[in-house]
Amino acid sequence: MHQASSAAVRTPDRPEPSFRELGVSEPVAEALRMRGFEHPFAIQSLVLPDALAGRDVLARSRTGSGKTLAFAVPLVERLHPSDRSPTGLILAPTRELASQVTEEFRAIADVRHLQVASVYGGVGIGPQAKRARHSDIVIATPGRLLDLVARKLLRLDRVRACVLDEADRMLDMGFLPDVTRILEMLRPDRQTMLFSATLDGEVGRLAKRFTRDAVLHENGDAGPNINHASHRFIAVEHPQKTRALVRELASDRGLTLIFVRTQRGADRLARNLRKEGFSAGELHGGMSQPQRERALGRFASGSNDLLVATDVAARGLDLDDITHVINFDAPADDKAYVHRVGRTARAGRGGEGLTFVTPDQRLEVGRIAKQLDLHAEFVDAGLSKPAPHQNGNGHSRTSNGQARTPKGGNTHRRHQDRRGAPAGRTRSAR
Ligand code: ADP
Ligand code: MG
Repeated sequence: MHQASSAAVRTPDRPEPSFRELGVSEPVAEALRMRGFEHPFAIQSLVLPDALAGRDVLARSRTGSGKTLAFAVPLVERLHPSDRSPTGLILAPTRELASQVTEEFRAIADVRHLQVASVYGGVGIGPQAKRARHSDIVIATPGRLLDLVARKLLRLDRVRACVLDEADRMLDMGFLPDVTRILEMLRPDRQTMLFSATLDGEVGRLAKRFTRDAVLHENGDAGPNINHASHRFIAVEHPQKTRALVRELASDRGLTLIFVRTQRGADRLARNLRKEGFSAGELHGGMSQPQRERALGRFASGSNDLLVATDVAARGLDLDDITHVINFDAPADDKAYVHRVGRTARAGRGGEGLTFVTPDQRLEVGRIAKQLDLHAEFVDAGLSKPAPHQNGNGHSRTSNGQARTPKGGNTHRRHQDRRGAPAGRTRSAR
């Protein structure tokens, strides 16, 4: 069970606490000051007290919000130097990320005499294993780590603090079996922390399985929101979807992100769009990391102004100038709608969310539109109202102030079930 707790709202007369006030020791706080870090970022203020107390933590916040120190500081504070096998473990999806995290650790681990080592593919395994064996904290990609364990070059049974960094991306890259195997090797009484851009779906299930009594912290600004976008629904028959899309794309636009349900669907639609003369790329979980980075790069630079993506793959996408999000395949629920369409109309710019609705999806999409306060737009499309008795589950989220932004507009702490989020603080006051 995750702990429910009331929101701690920071007011101007309650300034951000210092690292010391959050429970960080003087030597570590001094090491942070030496790096020019005087004040904790929001996610650090939220996570540090619980993490330093040894609690399991689930944390969600935007890229660049300072998550690394939110887990690096507690690990450095809680672990003790030893010359046996590692007691701290960080799993990260890519080699780049693992080495970045290692650098952040190095800056503060020295003052506590802790040895840090990274483990990832593409470099000689022998020397790497030797360093890892004698270190206190290992930062690793799952595949290479398991390789070391399988060759009996490294043991993980003394690990008493484990962090899954960018957990959503790790799962997205197919690391779930590896991550699961690794977690099962660690001390059962360990502290587990999970950092992710989303805590929905598979990530949520992983968290539930491998954490105990975890505290959830979210930095609300990170949540996508659809308040600044305009929204349109288009009724379309299944066989006409691609033609309808081409028609939409012919009008004026900038960067357009198109969502489909399946990997194969993404490949197929991107291919069809290229045949029609568009510069379209695809992005999905079946692609290798370099392939994805290339696809993202081409989209970010505008050399491909269309990107066809699946939900999970688009999660890491952090661009401010997407002008259109098109739900070629309807989103699964209101949360998915916000995650998708929330990628446009950011940073004060305009943007449009466009959703194709086939006859068999009318009811479901109608319900989503209603939940998100987009019922008028839905009706505008000439789509019939869903029968009122269809929504007989007792939830009416439009009436309690939680529509449109599933993630809070304020930094707050709450129960994992977002229906437990305090009403009225869901719209960010930008
Ligand atoms: P995330 O993991 O959330 O994407 P990072 O941990 O990589 O974010 O941090 C982003 C950047 O912010 C890094 O360059 C990091 O050194 C810097 N940073 C982190 N915490 C602070 C702080 N308290 N004060 C100033 N800079 C910070
Ligand atoms: Mg990070």
